[in-house]
Amino acid sequence: MKPLQFINPSSIQEASQLVQTNGVSALLIAGGTDLLDEIKEGVERPDKLISLIELEAMQGIALTSSGLEIGASTTLAEISSHTTIVGDYAALSQAAESVATPQIRNVGTLGGNLCQRPRCWYYRSINFDCRKKGGSTCYAQLGENKFHAILGGSDCLIVHPSDMAVALISLNASITLMSADDSRTLAMEDFFAGPDIDIMAENILTPGEIVTSVNIPTASANAKSIFLKAKERQGMDFATSSVAVAAEVSDDTISSIRVTLGGVAPIPWRATAAESVLIGKTLAGVDLKEVGEAAVHRAKALEHNGYKVRLTAGLTRRAVETLLAEWH
Ligand SMILES: Cc1cc2nc3c(=O)[nH]c(=O)nc-3n(C[C@H](O)[C@H](O)[C@H](O)COP(=O)(O)OP(=O)(O)OC[C@H]3O[C@@H](n4cnc5c(N)ncnc54)[C@H](O)[C@@H]3O)c2cc1C
Repeated sequence: MKPLQFINPSSIQEASQLVQTNGVSALLIAGGTDLLDEIKEGVERPDKLISLIELEAMQGIALTSSGLEIGASTTLAEISSHTTIVGDYAALSQAAESVATPQIRNVGTLGGNLCQRPRCWYYRSINFDCRKKGGSTCYAQLGENKFHAILGGSDCLIVHPSDMAVALISLNASITLMSADDSRTLAMEDFFAGPDIDIMAENILTPGEIVTSVNIPTASANAKSIFLKAKERQGMDFATSSVAVAAEVSDDTISSIRVTLGGVAPIPWRATAAESVLIGKTLAGVDLKEVGEAAVHRAKALEHNGYKVRLTAGLTRRAVETLLAEWH
């Protein structure tokens, strides 16, 4: 590993300025659980690390008049055990609890989880100059693709690795980004960008822009949510498929529902067709098989990942069934 300068800026603006001034040689670091791996693997080669972890403005969980605000440097462990999150935003605490190991959750942050780079083994290997690194070939297309995308992939078949993103999109969260002289807030699902938008990135962050917080609207009294994840190993592992469902039920009828899939596409994938077959249905009128089929109706399997189509349909069915049972 080459020598690195570690810089502790005193404000978000200074951190942003440092990245803007230094270009690609300076990278933001929070807990470092993903970035340090990338540096050790030779995928990233910065000269400077700009640390966000001591900036108080990016820490903590606060109840506001419009909902819950979570600072981007809040750890996954804090999120998974926060009383309000466990009670009112179950999908988020379940997603946080499903990430990696206690050691990684104690250090890894929400911002880092949302901005972590893909786990595709071709992208992570210095031996493959894949399209995400500026090359001309997606090696997963004809290679070892058992963990790759079945939805929304074309020129690059990574799957987005963040479990937190899947839960947050179903919970209709927004995300706030700040740079040295500006800030903007957008819907969480608009933060992520597929290969058709920028093949070398997974989100719309501009150079020097920093994720500072995530906001989730106040949960209504009749709202509930769930996150389920399938993985190859029972222990620490990324999702082969995951699903988060957030719903509101009034007078036995589904009045609002959001279904998001993880581990199956280059971005967390809103399953709008599954939502359409659920919205307005009475609890007794839900056809679970139809829901599962709708979730994967546009899926295209590669040579080695056909199992993901059935797995995702089944997982979606199970998540919807389990969640709706809470109103019975
Ligand atoms: C063994 C292992 C297993 C894992 N399993 C899972 C899993 O099952 N599910 C899952 O979702 N994740 C999993 N992860 C990923 C883990 O959740 C992330 O590594 C962690 O959340 C990243 O947080 P961090 O603070 O350490 O980020 P860092 O490593 O510090 O940063 C990660 C990336 O985000 C950028 N970044 C960090 N913070 C910000 C910010 N505020 N604004 C803009 N950019 C920022 C950095 O520049 C870097 O590119 C696993 C990781 C490991 C090592």
